[in-house]
Amino acid sequence: ADSLAPAPEALAATDRARLVHPFLPAAQDKRVVMVEGEGCRLRDAEGRTYLDATAGMWLCQVGHGRAEIAEAAAAQMRRLEYATTFWDFTHDRAVALADRLVRLSRNGQGAAERVHFTSGGSEGVEIALRMARNFHHRRGQTERTWILTRTGSYHGAGYASGEVSDFPCYTTGFGPHPGRVHRLTAPYPYAMGLDPEQITDLLVDELEAAVASIGAHRIAAMIGEPVQALGGMIAPPDDYWPRIAEVLRRHGILLVMDEVVTAFGRVGHWFAADRMGVRPDLTVLSKGLTSGYFPLGAVLMTGRVADVVTGDGGFPVGHTYSGHPTGCAVAMANLDIIEREDLLAAADRTGARLAAELATLRGLPSVGETRQYGLMAAVEIVRDSPTRDPLPEGTYALADEIRDRTGVLVRGGPRALTLAPPLVMSDAEVTEAVAGIAEVLSGFHRRAAAPGPGPHAGAHAGSVTT
Ligand code: PLP
Repeated sequence: ADSLAPAPEALAATDRARLVHPFLPAAQDKRVVMVEGEGCRLRDAEGRTYLDATAGMWLCQVGHGRAEIAEAAAAQMRRLEYATTFWDFTHDRAVALADRLVRLSRNGQGAAERVHFTSGGSEGVEIALRMARNFHHRRGQTERTWILTRTGSYHGAGYASGEVSDFPCYTTGFGPHPGRVHRLTAPYPYAMGLDPEQITDLLVDELEAAVASIGAHRIAAMIGEPVQALGGMIAPPDDYWPRIAEVLRRHGILLVMDEVVTAFGRVGHWFAADRMGVRPDLTVLSKGLTSGYFPLGAVLMTGRVADVVTGDGGFPVGHTYSGHPTGCAVAMANLDIIEREDLLAAADRTGARLAAELATLRGLPSVGETRQYGLMAAVEIVRDSPTRDPLPEGTYALADEIRDRTGVLVRGGPRALTLAPPLVMSDAEVTEAVAGIAEVLSGFHRRAAAPGPGPHAGAHAGSVTT
């Protein structure tokens, strides 16, 4: 431990005075001051350890505290800490990483040909939506400006990425919206009360009807998460994305896959699109690209899109940190680990184990269902399982309670508790994580059944975290 570090209480007090957190009311006193991580464990300033079943913000594929990534960053910083990729400038790290991402994509069915780097997921979504509109604009189809998106989606915190998201806190309280967004229904078998086989026909019809009413000539793109993450780790029926993609292609509408959460092994493949058999026109990446060791994102595109948007004048926007050499070096070291330790296979193996253990919670009255896809999993929390009604305040306070009582980190959401552990999580750690959830959920039902105030009063009640 660092003997010069301030005492935990002093750190928390300075935090309260100085830091503006996303989704934390200033009046709330509690702070969890993290200081160290290794594997799937985190340690706070008071010496308490946590089991991280959230991989940070669903990003730390290789686990915390990997010295080889820190060394790759330090070596790159000593040699060339920063260089731009604007105009004709470039550098070896961005070139190597772009080539590697395209090769990974060709191994599957993504078949991307070129890459534009960003600093994170929201920035990637902003760029991908601009590219989609710019693609049509340059081809003379200037009316193609509408974006199709879906219920329950999360795509980021910028104006456009917030607009295509379905969390009102990103659009309420900021004045006029960018607009020109149409929201389709995302497949959510549990909440819809339908079997997966019944859903795709309905949603393909809904898409066709939306295209007919807006007019294909006015629609630029559809954006979607292959598996909705913040919405509650919801995987679509197997035929959903291939059939949706076919309709879009027929109408000249580009498909933007937001793989910020799902890529780099999270669902047992480099890209979820590979597993689902779709070829997006644009793919947004971040999170697992560096396992969170450096803020970096990327937009992959087909040659057809790239050829158009890199025409006269080149693609007309960019960011200072696009293709940051240190970020690219960190990404290379991270991808080396994913390959060397075969973490794609680990995701499916550990995911199956997690699914089996979570299934033991199904007898609890507050558990509507448990679900898993790769190493993304969720426990759907209900007031009363036959009616399938969610808790009106979401599961944020419940996730806090699991953390505070058992040291297991899971994430709250509008309806479900969600898990996306590091891909290196061991079987014993899976058992420990599920035991923590079980401990709180069994008590939760007993108290929820008792008269009096519910157990949800807390700083997170009613908020959405990203
Ligand atoms: N897209 C998805 C699917 C996400 O889950 C997130 C963040 O959680 C984003 C985009 C936004 O990424 P960032 O927070 O890096 O801007």
